[in-house]
Amino acid sequence: MICDNLSAIRAAIAEAARRCSRDPDSIELVAVSKRMDRKKILRAAECGQTVFGENYLQEARDKIESLPPALRWHFIGHLQSNKAREAVRLFDLIETVDRWKLARALDRHAAQLQRCQEVLVQVNVGREPQKSGVLPEDAEELLRAMSGLAHLRVLGLMTMPPRAAEPQECRPYFRELRRLGETFAARGLFADNTRVELSMGMSADFAVAIGEGATMVRVGTAIFGRRS
Ligand SMILES: *Cc1c(COP(=O)(O)O)cnc(C)c1O
Repeated sequence: MICDNLSAIRAAIAEAARRCSRDPDSIELVAVSKRMDRKKILRAAECGQTVFGENYLQEARDKIESLPPALRWHFIGHLQSNKAREAVRLFDLIETVDRWKLARALDRHAAQLQRCQEVLVQVNVGREPQKSGVLPEDAEELLRAMSGLAHLRVLGLMTMPPRAAEPQECRPYFRELRRLGETFAARGLFADNTRVELSMGMSADFAVAIGEGATMVRVGTAIFGRRS
């Protein structure tokens, strides 16, 4: 079941990439395993999936420490600054940096752990008051400040658009994130301004996101089924 789902999604990613003349290998599938048990994650790993996304630190720690060390983990939930150390210890990429206090805490702990922590800046392109993410007009200032943090590598941007009835409704938000990425890359604000990561698109709308330039898609239910 999970293997079939993964094959179908990989095929759909390749098809979406072909439609806009992109290399399918330039798009990373992040399997969102929040509230899925170890057995399901292991099953996905056996089917070749290596990158997983988790939203809750405590839940993630139990999984990460008991699953094969070769797996890679992205943090995609809301992160409190007082959990920064644990997040640096556990995650290869933290996708949800959205404020200076958090960035500074991550940098400090990365320094202590002698690591260079890869991160994305989460942008609230839908301007939803209840959602995490820096507002588009505040993103540049945050990125400029973060460029002075020696132990963080800002690879790109991440967003979660407003909930929509139709995948196409998300297109303007994905497009805005790509434009922001291009603008900030032109100003030299990322670790590698020739290859800016854009994490956008979930089970319902990853094909639309790929059409707008997504380099990482975060897919949960379409791989693992509904969360309990
Ligand atoms: C849960 C979650 C996803 C995956 O959503 P699905 O609709 O299950 O694919 C992606 N990104 C974030 C930030 C999430 O919290």
